[in-house]
Amino acid sequence: MKASAFKYLRPNTMDEIFAAFAEHGDDAMILAGGQSLLPTLNMRLAQPAILVDINRIPELSGIERQGDIVRIGATTRHVEVLRSDIIASDLPLIGCAIQHVAHRGVRNRGTFGGSLSHADPAAEMAACAVASDATSILISSTGERRVPASDFFQGVMTTDRKWGEVLSSVEFPAFGSDEVWAFRELCRRQGDFAQVGVAAKARLSGSRLEELRLVVFGCEEYPKVSEIAVEMGSSGHSNAEIAAAVANELDPMTDLSGTADTKRIQARTLVERTLSDLIKGQAKGVRDE
Ligand code: FAD
Repeated sequence: MKASAFKYLRPNTMDEIFAAFAEHGDDAMILAGGQSLLPTLNMRLAQPAILVDINRIPELSGIERQGDIVRIGATTRHVEVLRSDIIASDLPLIGCAIQHVAHRGVRNRGTFGGSLSHADPAAEMAACAVASDATSILISSTGERRVPASDFFQGVMTTDRKWGEVLSSVEFPAFGSDEVWAFRELCRRQGDFAQVGVAAKARLSGSRLEELRLVVFGCEEYPKVSEIAVEMGSSGHSNAEIAAAVANELDPMTDLSGTADTKRIQARTLVERTLSDLIKGQAKGVRDE
């Protein structure tokens, strides 16, 4: 099947994007890397009248550090994130997890902002944004709106983005020297979407995990920080006890990669291993078998 007919606009300024939104309303869709959108159009799950290609807007792209904040522009390609020295040194959780996103061809075109906007429940970057306490920056003709990543994701492929807004960038607090992180993912082949994954960071106090932000993804409708893990992580429970409690609180979806019961068991195992990685203080990103 092929996409239904649409117009194509490739603006050079944000004002041209907002003018297209004003003229076409809901019939205008943003095109970034096209890796998720174009299959959607070809299957006619979406039939926009016009695609607004945002790839020529310079301010939407790039990775920079300002003070304690690392900013990733929305149209920054996955491959740029993968190769960035700033990401490797200041956002090691992202630097690790990006290696698990798709395959080379998809990483060459797919964008950071496209991944977050698409909001696939199994997307690695969305889970890491929530675990890292990142902030999504949305801009519209009326100004800027800042949304914590933990509020940005609201359901399967559903975000807090309002009509007329463009996700312009995502801001991350740079990792501190006293922080630990870990990433694990279960998938059939390297580069596949996760069946289940875990992204986490914390501060290590002795063998206790303070300020633990642990996110299970590929399991529930959207990534969220496990509140029970926060409570138990700092109160002397064993990893097995925390993992059991986290898994028990999940509300997994049955999908093509597994049943809800299977995902709960997989999540429990991955969480226990992730906690162990954090406590060892070993930065680690693992594709589990
Ligand atoms: P597009 O496809 O251009 O857009 C996706 C959606 O987001 C559209 O609705 C679009 O309108 C909207 N959008 C895009 N940018 C913005 C913006 N700045 N502001 C507002 N809305 C916007 N992803 C993973 O996380 N892990 C994987 O393992 C993985 N494997 C993949 C394997 C294959 C074979 C393919 C085809 C894709 C895979 N992906 C995976 C998805 C890939 O990461 C995509 O690049 C990503 O989901 C979408 O990014 P994009 O730039 O291509 O966005």
